[in-house]
Parts: sequence; C-alpha cells; structure tokens
Amino acid sequence: MQPLYEGKAKQLYATQDQDVLRIVYKDEATAFNGEKKAEFEGKGILNNELTSHFFKVLHEAGIPTHFIEKTSEREQLVRRVTIIPLEVVVRNIAAGSMSKRLGIAEGTPLETPIVEYYYKDDALGDPLLTLDHINLLKIATSEEVAQLAAYAKRVNEVLIAYFKANGITLVDFKLEFGKTSGGDILLADEISPDTCRLWDAETGQHLDKDVFRRGIGSLIDTYQSLFDRLGGKLS
Ligand code: UDP
Repeated sequence: MQPLYEGKAKQLYATQDQDVLRIVYKDEATAFNGEKKAEFEGKGILNNELTSHFFKVLHEAGIPTHFIEKTSEREQLVRRVTIIPLEVVVRNIAAGSMSKRLGIAEGTPLETPIVEYYYKDDALGDPLLTLDHINLLKIATSEEVAQLAAYAKRVNEVLIAYFKANGITLVDFKLEFGKTSGGDILLADEISPDTCRLWDAETGQHLDKDVFRRGIGSLIDTYQSLFDRLGGKLS
C-alpha cells in the first residue's frame, strides 16, 4: 500500500474509513531543512509513545486534537484533516532561531510567551510570516489565526504545567493544525522531543532533538531518558 504522504519522520496512510488516517512513525531524524539526516533505531517507537501521551494530556485539558488512538508500537489512527501550512511556534525562553535572529542570549526567559508563524514550504526554507503575510498568501483568515494562537497558548499552559511536574522546563515547541471536512480546526501532526525544546529544570540538560542538531549527545539515549522520566509506560 502506497502512503498518501511521506514526510521526514512519518508516513500517512488511508484506512477503510474516509475520515480516518493511519500514521506510521519512522526512525529517521533530520535537521537544518533536511541537510543533516540520520536513522536512529527505535526513535519512531519512542516518538509515537510520547506524542500519543501528550495528545491524551491535551485532550483531557479540552483541546481538540486529531488523535484517535495508538494502535501499535509505531502506529496511530487520527482524524483526517487538511493541514494548514503553518508551523505555529510558541516560546517561553529564548533559544534556537529566535536567539540568532534577535540577538537574545539562549536561556533568557521571555516575559510573556511569544507565538510565531512559519510558512511550511521547504523550497522557501520555512520563512517567518507576519499576520499580513498570512492574509496575503490566503493561508488562513485573521479569525482562524486568532484561533490558532489561542489554542497554541492554551497548549503551552497545559504542557508547561505537565513538564514542570516532571522537573522539566518547556522552552519552546512547534504545533501544526488542520481542518476537518466540516471546517473544525484540530491540533494535528506530532508533539515530541523532535518538535519541543525541553531542558532539565535543575541541570539545563537538553532532552530533545538539539542533541542531534548540535551533535552533543545520543538522540536515542536522550529520548529514552525523557520517556523514562515521564513514567516509562505512558499510554
Ligand atoms: N521546530 C520544529 N520543526 C521545524 C522548526 C522548528 O519542530 O521545522 C521546533 C523546534 O524543535 C523548537 C521550536 O520549533 O522546539 C523552535 O525552533 P527554532 O525556530 O528555534 O528553530 P531551530 O533552532 O530548530 O532551527
């Protein structure tokens, strides 16, 4: 069976049900718009486990998501949505591209969480967009963007509290949203150490994909230790 779509970390398949898709988590990791690439045996299993768990936590907090259920080590069933081509990034502490772009030292706490929008377009290198750009490109209406921002801030509040209870600081993360055929906006894609910056609250140790991006540690050991810290058997 051919995937409907194959991305860097996941494959997407149709199911018998028009409104339901199957996601398979792969072991590949990429960084810098695909320039750096590697396979890590077991990464897909850990990310499926972690994403499934975070979506459940968010569902319980009243945030509408595409997640239906985890069906095997590497697979989930999700509701079919059309992805809005925006990466919605929320930041609590300056890091990564924001530190570089604005000259704010990595680790500087932000007075209030910041939401940014990037255009999901590999050929353009996922550029940062203003609200006017989003309107100009007809990616989403102003009302929809306001809804994305509201969901993103709520996700941030829920996840900050969740990670804090586990001795982890949520530095920043990326979300993607999709629209159902009925027009509802749902949180989609994944939430995992591939898409979040997570620092040990005591030591500042990186518990996320920065260990791979920056070549400062073993990705699998890092993701496994995050998984163990969050309870080992999550879903
Ligand atoms: N992020 C992501 N996918 C991307 C770009 C960023 O999941 O294509 C996440 C990244 O893991 C981090 C947050 O979004 O948690 C902010 O990333 P940033 O803009 O600082 O970019 P980076 O430093 O990763 O290039």
